[in-house]
Formats: sequence, structure tokens, C-alpha cells
Amino acid sequence: MLLRHTPKEISERTALTINPAKTCQPIGAMYAALGIHGCLPHSHGSQGCCAYHRSTLTRHYKEPISAATSSFTEGSSVFGGQANLLQAISTIFSVYNPEIIAVHTTCLSETIGDDLPQIMKKSIDEGNTPEGKIVIGASTPSYVGSHVTGFSTMVKTMADMAEPTGKKNGKVNIIPGWVEPCDMEEIKRIAAMIGVDITLFPDTSGVLNSPLSGEYTMFPKGGTTVAELKGCANAIGTLALGEWCSADAARLLDTKHKVPCSILDMPFGLKATDRFINALRTVGGTTVPEEITDERGQLIDFISDMHQYFYHKKVAIVGDPDQLISMAEFLMSIDMCPVYVITGTPGKRFERRIKEITKESPFPVKVKAQGDMFLLHQWIKNDPVDLIIGNTYCKYISRDEDIPLVRWGFPILDRQGHQYFPTVGYKGGIRILEKILSSLLDRTDRDAPEEKFELVF
Ligand code: SF4
Repeated sequence: MLLRHTPKEISERTALTINPAKTCQPIGAMYAALGIHGCLPHSHGSQGCCAYHRSTLTRHYKEPISAATSSFTEGSSVFGGQANLLQAISTIFSVYNPEIIAVHTTCLSETIGDDLPQIMKKSIDEGNTPEGKIVIGASTPSYVGSHVTGFSTMVKTMADMAEPTGKKNGKVNIIPGWVEPCDMEEIKRIAAMIGVDITLFPDTSGVLNSPLSGEYTMFPKGGTTVAELKGCANAIGTLALGEWCSADAARLLDTKHKVPCSILDMPFGLKATDRFINALRTVGGTTVPEEITDERGQLIDFISDMHQYFYHKKVAIVGDPDQLISMAEFLMSIDMCPVYVITGTPGKRFERRIKEITKESPFPVKVKAQGDMFLLHQWIKNDPVDLIIGNTYCKYISRDEDIPLVRWGFPILDRQGHQYFPTVGYKGGIRILEKILSSLLDRTDRDAPEEKFELVF
């Protein structure tokens, strides 16, 4: 009983978070920045913040994460970190020679009030940023929002690099949101099958799932290039996958450069993938090939073959809003019942959306934005579920309450595979169902008395 102190009785809490279902803004900003080719993320704050952000990403992606820091001392903590950042920019370009530095702020530099745009301008004026090199900056104070907000802010900053040429390039921008590198690969595969030329940004495929070659490369071959980011202003449209992660960047391209955007859900599960495929073929002016239709048919076949094992199973899901919205819809579509839904990211519209998706549920549904895992545990103690879907931190609740756990989301610190096996698209839907089904049937096997222990399901 690792969480033995979690009481069953629920008290109203307004100023206390226990076991948060989120992490800090710069982690999201750093992940997004790693999706730019030749980019070195830079944490404008003290070393401890940067070490934490890097180690969290390293533990999830099982890859070394390179990032620089302004390395605040007592002096910069009081008088501001301008001198540190200017020196850092100069040193980074001369020692590591990235194409671009993506700076994000931290609690400390935000509290001091460092003016990032002014420092970046000074860096150009004083020659710290060499000709042809780029520094972008995102404001990511962690006392508001979450890692999702930080991701979104950095992606919006990337979109702000777009430069119109006055001529459309025929491409479609896809902003995938915070998904795994393999999910980004899968989105590119689907777009290629449909015959739509896309710019995916950010794109961490080939960066955080790159092969072990025996040689260290400071900047892996993956990532959206600076030229591609600049070209986003000339696209024929933008598909933003996820209101929380991607919509702000898409709207910026729409209002600033007249690139029309559609805000979609992340393509997890059948219906959300249907909408994504339909939007992609519409904006790209193409048709859906038979191969995609076959993949869809395979997912439907899986659902129909195994439906009896999913039917009316109660599920607790915890994670980030965009992912949870699609997952809740997917579970409802296969007659599973997401009864507890928690995200640490703020936003009442998340609660409204989940209530709308689950309104046909046969069980009461509890949903909370800006919630925590302590509350989730209390809900489960009062009325248990059949399955938990969430990140590694759910393993404590899973163990204490003896409930199977499907690891999905961020961070996954104690398992492998999430960088390699996509969960977006129809094939990804099969992957999700396979994981859910294996967990449920493993539990059935474990609990079955000998006379009911089945060889074939
Ligand atoms: S001080 Fe702020 S930015 Fe730094 S690790 Fe803590 S929450 Fe994150």
C-alpha cells in the first residue's frame, strides 16, 4: 500500500494539489523545440530546472536530451538574466553551431520579469546571434498552465516564424500536438498514402526515436526544418490536432497569413481518425486510397470480434486534455465506459467536452480539469473501476487497488515501446485495443478458478 494515506472520504480542496496530473510548462516547450531540425532548446533559468526538464524527457523517450541553460546565480536571480542569456546565445552558436536556439523561460526568469523579445533583439543588435542563425523565445512560467500549455506556446512561436512569399506552395500544415515520435511518423505515412504534401510541425520523429548508429550526432536528421517552418505561411490549409496543443498556432497562421485552419481532435480511435482522414483528403483535394479503407476495416473487425470483452467495462483515464477527449470518445464507441476522467491542465471546456462525449454512458461520469491523482484515487476507492489508462504514476493506484493499468500518455518512465508503436490512426487504434484487451484478459486468467481457466478466448 504505497498510497496508504489516501482517505476514502473526499474533502473539498481549493488550494492544495496532491500527486499532480501534470508537469511543468518548460518540459512541453522543450519537447516541441526538439521537433525543429538543428535546434538546441535553451532553458532561461537556473540549472536545476533544465536538469529536471531534460531528465523527464530522457526517462520517457530513452534518448539523451541536449539542452542549454542560462545557469542563473544569486545575482541573476535578483537583477535579471539578460547578461547570462546573451552570453549563452553567443557560446551556444560558437561551440555547438545549431541552426536555431529555442529559448523558453522558467518560473524564476518570469518572476524577475526578464523581457525575452528585448533580449533576443539585443542579441541580434550586438552580434551574439550570427547572421543566418535564429533565436526564438516562448514565455513558459510554470505557476500557470501545465506542460501542455508550454508545448502549445512553443508551437505557436514556431508558427510565428512563417514568412509569406505571396505564392501558395500547395502544402498542408499539420500540427500533430504532443504525440510520440512514432505517431508523427504515422501521420506522415497516412498523409503520403492519401497523397497530400504536408509540413508537420513539430516533428520529433528521427530525433527522439533515432537508431543507435555507434556515432553521436548532436543534431539528429529528423525535425521540421527552418525553411519548412517559414513556408507554413504559404500552405493551402492547416489541420491542428488538439485544441489544447495545436489550435493557437493554427489560428495564428490563419489570422496572420490567411492560411485557413481546421481544429480537429487528435486522431486516436475510430471516429477521430475518420474526421482527420476526411479533413485531410478535403483540404488536399484527394481521395482516400483502398489501403486506408482496409486499415479502417481491420480496426472495425477487431472491435467487433472482441466487443464482448470491452462491453460496459468501467475505465479511469488520466492525462492531457487532447488525448483524453479522443480516448473517451474511442472508449464510448466500443461500449467501454470512461467513468473517471482527470487532467491536471486547467480548462472548464475540457469538462464540458467530456460530459458531452459521455452523455450516453450507462454509469455516472466524474470529470475534473486541474484535478490530481489523489482525487482519482479517492474516486476509485469509493467505486472501483475495471481498468486504468494513464501514465506511469498511475501504477501506485493500480497496485494499491489491484486494478490493471494500460500505460498511455506522458510520462511513461518504466516501460518501453511508446516511441516505436504508434497509437494514432486506424493501426494505432488496433494497438490501443490490443493493449486494453491484453490487460483485461491477463486479469481474467489470473483470477479464474481452475475449472474456468480458458485456453481460447
Ligand atoms: S521552478 Fe518552475 S520551471 Fe523550474 S522545474 Fe520548477 S516548476 Fe519547472
